[in-house]
Amino acid sequence: MSIKQVAILGSTGSIGVNTLDVIRAHPDRFQVVALTAGKQIERLAKQCLEFKPRIAVVSDADGAAHLSKLLLEKQVQTQVLYGPEALITAVTESGCDTVMAAIVGAAGLVPALAAAKSGKRVLLANKEALVMSGDLFMQAMKHGGGELLPIDSEHNAIFQCLPNQFSKDPNPSLGVEELWLTASGGPFRDTPLDQLVGITPDQACAHPNWVMGKKISVDSATMMNKGLEVIEAFWLFGLPLEKIKVLIHPQSVVHSMVRYRDGSVLAQLGQPDMRTPIAYGLAWPERIEAGVSPLSLTQLAALSFAEPDLVRFPCLSLAFAAANTGGTAPAVLNAANEVAVAAFLDEGLPYLQIPEVVEKTLNAIPIASADSLDVILEVDARARNIAQEFISKR
Ligand code: NAD
Ligand code: MG
Repeated sequence: MSIKQVAILGSTGSIGVNTLDVIRAHPDRFQVVALTAGKQIERLAKQCLEFKPRIAVVSDADGAAHLSKLLLEKQVQTQVLYGPEALITAVTESGCDTVMAAIVGAAGLVPALAAAKSGKRVLLANKEALVMSGDLFMQAMKHGGGELLPIDSEHNAIFQCLPNQFSKDPNPSLGVEELWLTASGGPFRDTPLDQLVGITPDQACAHPNWVMGKKISVDSATMMNKGLEVIEAFWLFGLPLEKIKVLIHPQSVVHSMVRYRDGSVLAQLGQPDMRTPIAYGLAWPERIEAGVSPLSLTQLAALSFAEPDLVRFPCLSLAFAAANTGGTAPAVLNAANEVAVAAFLDEGLPYLQIPEVVEKTLNAIPIASADSLDVILEVDARARNIAQEFISKR
């Protein structure tokens, strides 16, 4: 068995740390050749000390100097680079054959695209990349000829429930009728609407079932996360939007389902632990130990499912609308949401105004076709400016 050479984009985040946890248990299968982080230099230094990658990348020159100093003290030979271009270098020059794309937000788009073009195995956690540029990304994967393994738990579940040949040839004879994405409903699923007024970042980030980065935790509370995931599923699996459904499932045990023409519904179940989809993506088509405790169905009180409440979760409606509009609308939605969530986390925007900022930004920008990276990056920048202006002038 050859050892897989892995690059992790976003190694200091929640997905990055879980990825290293799986890799740590399988030194005979995986070697880490590149690690990248934004600003968490000390955590990255510890990871470099343990995994000895060829390349480490951070956001800026100060961070690079700090990391170089820490590594020199410990005589670690890792080459330290910085800036957005260096993220591409980590993909193309590290000798990796597998890339975990786990930078949060639009910052992860360009390196994820580089991974897609490169013909390597891409483990895609960074859903924002697909939301912004699904068409370009899927084309880049096709031309690159590599394997795309979804890491987002719902998409990983659906991937597991689809026939093997579906991604290459989604032939109607395979009988796939609908994809059902499950959603916990987040921390405010049952909170009376009048109590959502003063929600704090800590309350919004306290997800009942999953431990994740802050941005995706807030997205889960507003259910923008599920909206982004509908768009992600649309690009990954190539089914029309009306065949992609969302179901509230508070227990987070059924990670998603596929309904077939003959009446069968296939579901993937498991603990809410990202190491399962990460291990699946790393070892596919084999299965390896992920460090996840076995699921005990007898200890579960019940599994329940319900329709989402679009009044409670206006972000979900906005995402459905942007998905239906298509073109650059999902990129605008994503950019405005990133700015609004960052402002909320910074205590500069009330929780309930996140959807308002997104809606106003969507209404302010005419939609074009998303046919080049330049167009997408331009609309992303414009949407950020407009969203920021709405927040400042409130
Ligand atoms: P996180 O905030 O914990 O980590 C983000 C990582 O990206 C960190 O390593 C950070 O240093 C890096 N980063 C942030 N901004 C950067 C920039 N400008 N340049 C370079 N690096 C930068 O986020 P996370 O929860 O690990 O999520 C990562 C991605 O995976 C997101 O797109 C998220 O939607 C997706 N995802 C996460 C989970 C989860 O359980 N955490 C589940 C499904 C999907
Ligand atoms: Mg998910």
